[in-house]
Amino acid sequence: MTMRHAVVVVVALVLAVAAAPAGAVTFSAKNAASSTAGGKRFDREVGTAYARKVLSDASSFCWKVFKQPSSGSRKPVAAVTLAVEDIGGVAFTSGDGIHLSAKYVGGITGDVKKEVTGVLYHETTHVWQWNGQGQANGGLIEGIADYVRLKAGYAPGHWVKPGQGDRWDQGYDVTARFLDYCDSLKPGFVALLNAKMKGGYSDAFFAQILGKNVQQLWKDYKKKYGG
Ligand SMILES: [Zn+2]
Repeated sequence: MTMRHAVVVVVALVLAVAAAPAGAVTFSAKNAASSTAGGKRFDREVGTAYARKVLSDASSFCWKVFKQPSSGSRKPVAAVTLAVEDIGGVAFTSGDGIHLSAKYVGGITGDVKKEVTGVLYHETTHVWQWNGQGQANGGLIEGIADYVRLKAGYAPGHWVKPGQGDRWDQGYDVTARFLDYCDSLKPGFVALLNAKMKGGYSDAFFAQILGKNVQQLWKDYKKKYGG
């Protein structure tokens, strides 16, 4: 390499670094199960390029729902990654890494791309939401993840309808619908709840934000829908 070429390479590297704003998050997706039937279907009907864009879009959407316009107000995450793997279940998130089951993708009936997008919105929420320092119950954590999926317009048809379910913290769609009701009482409720969950967790957060305890809110919610 000549000196002139070396200078060009260095300048290119400096420009590449400068192009990434401070605190920028990177998104990546890989298919580690592309030899399996489900992995082949992922490549055919979803693709890593599209999935990577979903991780980015879903992250921006989480910041909007959680009202975290600047990186300083968010969880300190540098990279969100997705790996399609030959695993059981649907998907799980560990730290900043999302793992999606190829078998699950292979078994989806209907619109694969839309279903996978919805699952990725749910999992991306796990990357960004606060978990009450591990004290919040799992039902609420899953409910917030499905709430973000719901607000993004990716709630699947098999979900419970508003007003259905037995307990506020039943999790997933049941809790997501209930949180949507709470947010209708005070827009931005979920953002405030998530912000409080940075330092710990107490059911009293509901009363602190809405002036009614969570059991009363659940009763009001059921009553609204005739339950
Ligand atoms: Zn989840």
